[in-house]
Amino acid sequence: MWHYDRGLKLTKADLAVDVRRRQPRAFVSHAHNDHMGRHELALCTPATARLYHHRLGPRPVLEMPYREPLDWGGLRLTTYPAGHCLGSAMLLAEEGSQTLLYSGDFKLGPSLTAEAAELPPADILVVESTFGDPRYRLPPRDTVIAEFIDLVRRLLSRECVPVIQAYALGKAQEVTAILTSAGLPVLQHAEVFAISQVYEACGVSLGGYRRYPGYAQPGHVIVVPPYVNRWRPLHGVERQVTIALTGWAAVANTRRWSQSDYALPLSDHADYDQLFRAIAIVDPKVVYCTHGPPRFVEHLRRAGIDAYPLDGRAAGSRAVGA
Ligand SMILES: [Zn+2]
Repeated sequence: MWHYDRGLKLTKADLAVDVRRRQPRAFVSHAHNDHMGRHELALCTPATARLYHHRLGPRPVLEMPYREPLDWGGLRLTTYPAGHCLGSAMLLAEEGSQTLLYSGDFKLGPSLTAEAAELPPADILVVESTFGDPRYRLPPRDTVIAEFIDLVRRLLSRECVPVIQAYALGKAQEVTAILTSAGLPVLQHAEVFAISQVYEACGVSLGGYRRYPGYAQPGHVIVVPPYVNRWRPLHGVERQVTIALTGWAAVANTRRWSQSDYALPLSDHADYDQLFRAIAIVDPKVVYCTHGPPRFVEHLRRAGIDAYPLDGRAAGSRAVGA
């Protein structure tokens, strides 16, 4: 049903899945740069299509709204929300009676700006396993958000300017919605602001925010891409204090990596426990792991799950995935 060609390919439809190099036809699970390329034809959800066009310019797309099966290339293809960022999708491929689910980047549980993940059952699961290490068990999301808002308020009360480092697509909009829901006005870096306009055009309201005008304003929080940091600060802002929001903050030395004053573990990826929960929901016969630590395969096997890395070398991959 599938083969490995420096990435996942659905054989019958000759459809590459989340491959960065240019393809005649490729499924794009979401509009993060490590999952898309300048393809001749991209299959993706309508929201991902808008974000894809925003990032790479006008390109041919075949839109796949969630839960609407598409008979294409000899397969039946259906997208389901992945809970990672706006438009992010899992792909269910059906060939005869065999089913394969590709998770893409995903997260379980609620989000203010992404559709909540839905996982259909499948025989074969290809799972994105970024946090496939037991060190990455993140605290409950509500706890992290409460801690974050509390920290921001404390900084504002000391007349500091909180500068939040977040990926420009997805995390930055989620953080903005979290802040504005708490009554805190936001200024967005131009790159973040441009993507937020796409979110708004897709019907996702982020509350009271404006484009950063080049100077701080009292009582405002500034949301910036991660490359703005302690050593490369925003121009025109005195007393700025940077806060990184990333799942990597679950491990102690993230503060140094992210070059921020504070780091809190708010993630848009499934943590270690969520990975196991997702696999239990899909209940596959076999699991292939991608984008994660190689040891995760061993963790799954010890739990009695038939698991392999998605790298084309795995014993059994041919037999099961052919
Ligand atoms: Zn992503």
